[in-house]
Amino acid sequence: MRLARLLRGAALAVPGPGLRAAGPSRSFSSDSGSGPAPERGVPGQVDFYARFSPSPLSMKQFLDFGSVNACEKTSFMFLRQELPVRLANIMKEISLLPDNLLRTPSVQLVQSCFTDTVIRIRNRHNDVIPTMAQGVIEYKESFGVDPVTSQNVQYFLDRFYMSRISIRMLLNQHSLLFGGKGKGSPSHRKHIGSINPNCNVVEVIKAKSPGQPIQVVYVPSHLYHMVFELFKNAMRATMEHHANRGVYPPIQVHVTLGNEDLTVKMSDRGGGVPLRKIDRLFNYMYSTAPRPRVETSRAVPLAGFGYGLPISRLYAQYFQGDLKLYSLEGYGTDAVIYIKALSTDSIERLPVYNKAAWKHYNTNHEADDWCVPSREPKDMTTFRSA
Ligand code: ATP
Ligand code: MG
Repeated sequence: MRLARLLRGAALAVPGPGLRAAGPSRSFSSDSGSGPAPERGVPGQVDFYARFSPSPLSMKQFLDFGSVNACEKTSFMFLRQELPVRLANIMKEISLLPDNLLRTPSVQLVQSCFTDTVIRIRNRHNDVIPTMAQGVIEYKESFGVDPVTSQNVQYFLDRFYMSRISIRMLLNQHSLLFGGKGKGSPSHRKHIGSINPNCNVVEVIKAKSPGQPIQVVYVPSHLYHMVFELFKNAMRATMEHHANRGVYPPIQVHVTLGNEDLTVKMSDRGGGVPLRKIDRLFNYMYSTAPRPRVETSRAVPLAGFGYGLPISRLYAQYFQGDLKLYSLEGYGTDAVIYIKALSTDSIERLPVYNKAAWKHYNTNHEADDWCVPSREPKDMTTFRSA
């Protein structure tokens, strides 16, 4: 079975970190279709599947499977093994969060969603981001923010949302390839599931293009999401910074393709952000956005939680890219999206639950190893007389 072979290849090519806790090696038998019997009950199943490392796929593997030899049964068998592994790895980490955060009703709701069929899982998890964000807000309102919790929550949510992005990617590929709803709109006929092998970046950004199309193998919806969030931020900053003048400088977008990177740079003149605050803009707990209302019936996932930047960065990092902000306070901001130019380099970046991850939550955060600068300079005259 092609995918099974591909997947075993992926597991070999991208081994999990060496610090992984003792457990069986990944030895599922995809070909027979009968995996090893997990222990009964949800906690037993989570423990069982968490012993396996997720298998990251490269964009090329997604493409090869979807275009050359798409087989619904193989895809289903892969999902049946891989989804529980990805879910269990991140579910184990949930239990390492601070008790008070775990006890919030919203986080308990997220924790209770585990087993379900393919489509039902995807639909049920539509509201995971706002529900989890709600949990963080409830925690903040009751217990405030301390640096240790903030660091752990940041570490966890980056991994949790990354796991979610990857799970949705797999579910989408399966349902788009084998969902039986025809090939979709003419513009999507050449897509392999959600991937466009010739994704015209400038077209996705909807900018006028003077030159040759710049193409990359990518998921257009991911690129659209990132660019949309960056435009929202750039427009808001521009409007606020120039409100008195009534003349609004344009937002400029540059797209370049090199040997390794495809880079999208969005430049605004919206007044920028001081360097001291840049990291904070990606922090889930420090969001200053007003508390939005959670409407579970609506599928608008990111309305105003202040998650635009951190989630967009995860989309970029998911296939080994990145998203960075460079700001000139008083002038404007450059937001840069990096995407791997080669489909062989675009490999899923997946969290794995292992000793290194466990240590991250349980390390004593000791005093800083850099001096804390004092605002009051020392009175040097006292040293002169000694
Ligand atoms: P959301 O995107 O969830 O609707 P948000 O825009 O507040 O809310 P982020 O997109 O993560 O959340 O941005 C966080 C903060 O970073 C913004 O509130 C804004 O203060 C600042 N920021 C982001 N981009 C820019 C920019 N281009 N210029 C100036 N400030 C910016
Ligand atoms: Mg935003």
